[in-house]
Amino acid sequence: MTDPRSAVADVVIVGAGVVGTAIARTLARYRLDCVLADAARDVGTGTSKANTAILHTGFDAKPGTLESRLLARGSALLREYAADTGIPVEYTGALLVAWTAEQLGGLPALEENARRNGYLAVRRVGAGELYAREPALGPGALGALEIPDEAIICPWTTPLAFATEAVGAGVRLVLEAGVTGVSSFDGFYELATTRGVLRGRWVVNAAGLGSDVIDRMFGGDGFTIRPRRGELIVFDKLARSLLRSILLPVPTARSKGVLVAPTVYGNVLLGPTAEDVPDRGDTATTAAGLDLLMAAGRRILPGLGEEEVTATYAGLRAATEHADYQIRVDGARRYACVAGIRSTGLSASLGIAEHVVGLLGEAGLALRARSSAVALPRMPYIGEVGRRPYQDAELIAGDGAYGQIVCHCERVSLGEVRDALASPVPPADLGGLRRRTRAMNGRCQGFFCAATVSRLFDSRPRSGLVPVAEAAAEVRRP
Ligand SMILES: Cc1cc2nc3c(=O)[nH]c(=O)nc-3n(C[C@H](O)[C@H](O)[C@H](O)COP(=O)(O)OP(=O)(O)OC[C@H]3O[C@@H](n4cnc5c(N)ncnc54)[C@H](O)[C@@H]3O)c2cc1C
Repeated sequence: MTDPRSAVADVVIVGAGVVGTAIARTLARYRLDCVLADAARDVGTGTSKANTAILHTGFDAKPGTLESRLLARGSALLREYAADTGIPVEYTGALLVAWTAEQLGGLPALEENARRNGYLAVRRVGAGELYAREPALGPGALGALEIPDEAIICPWTTPLAFATEAVGAGVRLVLEAGVTGVSSFDGFYELATTRGVLRGRWVVNAAGLGSDVIDRMFGGDGFTIRPRRGELIVFDKLARSLLRSILLPVPTARSKGVLVAPTVYGNVLLGPTAEDVPDRGDTATTAAGLDLLMAAGRRILPGLGEEEVTATYAGLRAATEHADYQIRVDGARRYACVAGIRSTGLSASLGIAEHVVGLLGEAGLALRARSSAVALPRMPYIGEVGRRPYQDAELIAGDGAYGQIVCHCERVSLGEVRDALASPVPPADLGGLRRRTRAMNGRCQGFFCAATVSRLFDSRPRSGLVPVAEAAAEVRRP
């Protein structure tokens, strides 16, 4: 009889969003067998795929909180990582606009808050300079705070890059494995999943909207997820000339408020709303939410009212009854809870991962560095400002597939689709292919290219699902 321990991983990370994948790639630097499990068919399909895509500096975080510390650290780490791996980032800066005398009077406090967070580059901007910089801004703005280091980032490439690095370093990615129960044995856990059993000595709970359910399986009862929905509107690329910077509102205690921002794909984003919803899966947009956004958008940038809408979507913030992140590691139980990562997890992801791995080490997980450094992946560039394959004559001369356009709105080539389908973390559906290439992401939303893209997708090499216990056993020894 085989010893079940032979299939026991050192660490099972539950949740392959931007936080779980960041933890996986950070743990992959050590001589550990790791499994990264998710209920979904792909990485980054939870809150991580539907947010506002701002790479925050953390200037407006509450000083002294864990979020403030990990956001500042994570933001710095992600800027460096993005440059090294090809994650699209644009350093547009942000202008936090005051529309009332009260808001204008509140700017010095926000400036002081930024300084207390260690961010010193904020600067007051008068109405004259503000309108000179953003001439399409609606009437009535009284002044602004400039946050020059706020940036926009590709939320899709980020978890994909982390997962690609992790998988390249031997982490076993187990998808369609929703954790439904936990049994504790001498020295290891058995996680019942929708695909069979996974075993691990340590468990990291990075399950986002499902993190309180997992936490209760480990005896926790310190928080409950209260999903807070944020609806957003994406405008066509013709709207992009309306603004240069991210235009932020003065934040409230509940949310960062409705902003207008460029996207790295060349569109304009308006949102998000902030509404508590009972259902953890309720990512529907609503007429009321979109009306509210359009009213705010018309006031901030009146020209937006004339622009065409390409898409609408909604994401759910994993809010809890606590304002701060809910991160703790219990060494006796060999369990880490990484939850309540509400509205800043994309920016903070690498800071959170560094912090959690540090805590795991202190709690007794043996962190022995690998003898050779883990290679960083080079991700396909899907931003708008850098050079894309269709613009690269040398690349096309070497391989004509990069000159063969499949999606004309977004100028996605056959070569990029082919590469995505054969990548180490391949898409599981057309949505996944869209997040990897931008195919079908344009103004026609796939009306012209969906048939071709579907055909290419259907012809992809298929590996099939490996039973989960085998997957755990197959974890490669570093
Ligand atoms: C509207 C909105 C705007 C935002 N804007 C920004 C922004 O501009 N900048 C920024 O930095 N952050 C922003 N955020 C926050 C950011 O998106 C989140 O903090 C981040 O995506 C959280 O990542 P995560 O990995 O914790 O969660 P998720 O991405 O939700 O990942 C959790 C994963 O766990 C899996 N899972 C759940 N339960 C189970 C189970 N039982 N078994 C197995 N797997 C399970 C899910 O399938 C999911 O893939 C925004 C969020 C929203 C909603």
